[in-house]
Amino acid sequence: MSYDNNNIFAKVLRGEIPCKKIYEDEFVLSFYDINPQKKIHALVIPKGKYTDLDDFNNNASSDEIAGFFRGVSKVANKLGISIDKGNGYRALANIGENGGQEVPHLHFHLFGGEKIGKMVE
Ligand code: AMP
Repeated sequence: MSYDNNNIFAKVLRGEIPCKKIYEDEFVLSFYDINPQKKIHALVIPKGKYTDLDDFNNNASSDEIAGFFRGVSKVANKLGISIDKGNGYRALANIGENGGQEVPHLHFHLFGGEKIGKMVE
């Protein structure tokens, strides 16, 4: 699938749509999900134009990949849900149609602040 420059998260990255920012650096932007499913529900997205996790892993540079996954842990730390600061969390990426991905820009959901429960319905 080619990258759609008009997807919602591309617009958030360009500042065309506001977000409740949690963290930003050279590689990632993190903000609260607009429709939280748990007490804490954050999203972490790479700055680069990648549709999903496979696109990212196949095409991003090693620096982008390291920066992204380090960013996930920085966000968890900042939110106080990491193992060392809190009680842990769930990181989840939906990939493609069967994975239930709605926005075609790679994102990880971070759920925390309470017990997250069953892994899948
Ligand atoms: P997914 O189904 O994995 O693609 O998840 C997309 C997520 O993006 C959903 O949890 C939505 O609630 C969330 N979402 C959609 N639009 C926005 C927005 N403008 N700001 C924050 N989160 C959003």
